[in-house]
Amino acid sequence: MEPTQCMDIATELRAVQQGGYPLILTLDTHGVPHRWISWQHACYYYSKDQVAWAMGAQAFTVYGGMNRMTGRRSSITASSIIAIKGKAMAMKSFSQVPPLNNRELFHRDRQICAYCGGMFPISRLTRDHVTPFSRKGKDTWMNSVTACRACNERKGNHTPEQAGMELIYLPYVPNRAEYLILTNRRILADQMEFLAQHVPAQSRLRQSVA
Ligand SMILES: [Zn+2]
Repeated sequence: MEPTQCMDIATELRAVQQGGYPLILTLDTHGVPHRWISWQHACYYYSKDQVAWAMGAQAFTVYGGMNRMTGRRSSITASSIIAIKGKAMAMKSFSQVPPLNNRELFHRDRQICAYCGGMFPISRLTRDHVTPFSRKGKDTWMNSVTACRACNERKGNHTPEQAGMELIYLPYVPNRAEYLILTNRRILADQMEFLAQHVPAQSRLRQSVA
């Protein structure tokens, strides 16, 4: 496909996407999950011949504008899981610590307060630093747990020991596959099946992807 045709499709896609196309899962050529990309982005990779192979169970065809030369409508068929060529891609992915955000933190902890064990809506949850900032605690996955407002207030500027509050679960750093699961609320069955294979056995997410 010509890049210009791809642009036509991308323009049309922008409209379609507002209705919500599922995201495409990209892998490096070793089959390691990398990130979610939009249809426009997948289209770009296809047009640049940068798709090494595809393994998704689902394929989507999206139609673009008419080709004046052939009179045919341009189209692209993309798979739900694609491996992208290139070394840069392979280097970046797995060792990186994913960024810490409340949304992903609360999902990591299954919206359960680490102190009272209650399950709360996201609006009533907070990020608790196990070792508080005032005691040189850092803002990292390993020092953060989900806490309800009441528990966070009660704990205040103390460590769990000082506050006499025991952690009912331990913090951990999600790996890449887990992080990808945490960041996308509309994962297709084949994508989930693939990512689940890369989630460590001790992960709390195991319960929801099993
Ligand atoms: Zn609580």
